[in-house]
Amino acid sequence: MSRTARAAVIRAPGQAAEICTVELAPLEHDEVRVRLVATGVCHTDVAWADGQLIDTFPVVLGHESAGVVEETGRAVTAVRPGDRVAVALTHNCGHCGYCETGRPMLCRQRTERPPRLILDGVPLVQGFGAGGFAEQTIVPEGSVIPVPADVPLPVAAIVGCAASTGLGAVFNIAEVEYGTKVAILGAGSIGLSVLLGCRLAGADRIVMVDPDRQRRDRALRLGATDVMPADEPAVRALEPDGFDYVFESAGTAQAMESAVRLAREGGTTTLIGVVPPGTTITIDARSFVPSQSRILGCLTGNVRPHVDFDRFFRLYRRGLLDLAALSTGAMPLDDLDAAFARCRSGAGLRTLIALSAE
Ligand SMILES: [Zn+2]
Ligand SMILES: [Zn+2]
Repeated sequence: MSRTARAAVIRAPGQAAEICTVELAPLEHDEVRVRLVATGVCHTDVAWADGQLIDTFPVVLGHESAGVVEETGRAVTAVRPGDRVAVALTHNCGHCGYCETGRPMLCRQRTERPPRLILDGVPLVQGFGAGGFAEQTIVPEGSVIPVPADVPLPVAAIVGCAASTGLGAVFNIAEVEYGTKVAILGAGSIGLSVLLGCRLAGADRIVMVDPDRQRRDRALRLGATDVMPADEPAVRALEPDGFDYVFESAGTAQAMESAVRLAREGGTTTLIGVVPPGTTITIDARSFVPSQSRILGCLTGNVRPHVDFDRFFRLYRRGLLDLAALSTGAMPLDDLDAAFARCRSGAGLRTLIALSAE
């Protein structure tokens, strides 16, 4: 396999993706070169490309990937060439205060890895340390997670961000108890992952709230007990005392404020959506303080890739976690801009970029 690969390079905010042939740096002792098979398109990729998230360019985005190991650095022991792997979007050091206390998503080294893809002598930023919209990428050994033989790589790719965020929100952040009432605001791939997690947790009632009828229908098929348009009084009428858990996965301040109001006294609201810098939300302090409620922030479900990915794969293999339902179609790398447009429009769920045959 050559040390060059086609990659989608975004040179500046708002610019179209340019498909370029990039060079891959020689491997450091602890790095792995992966031939990518599929990478999902996430809203944060689009927000970054549009200049609404991180102002670092030129960049190769894509952080929800799976592929096959092509080459390993001399100190790598966890994987070998030919192994099928998912790429974790976080590179945690393993020994700082956050890592040692089970919060690797907060590790300061999370996005510090030097770029390993090079275009015309200029190192390219690898979005969230991954660089998944490329035929190959280089990541540290700790960022590749083996994928069982009977889990298709396009399914494994979705675990990297969407499924991790939604399932992690349920199990690692909110810690949903069985027999409880849940409302989820926003039925995109993350909201649906929250739904799948709440079913696994044994929630008694799962209300999915989304203005889009197709999304509501999909949520019903995946096990929502009720679906509602975004009409807060109507949702409130379903549970006049409020919900035990409310998850916000719509990415708007309005939905976040509504989520807080829909939680019962002593309930838990988990805010997941990515909003533009400077966004603020308002809560009624007079009623919130004595409510003993909790508002929690959620970054990629505080996923611990080496623990959680394997658990997700095992649930998928047992038929308990329909990860394939989170993706609606695949497109080639050359159509990345069209896939981004699809993501902006809110049509469908995860679009996968097909990068090579398994
Ligand atoms: Zn993402
Ligand atoms: Zn750390």
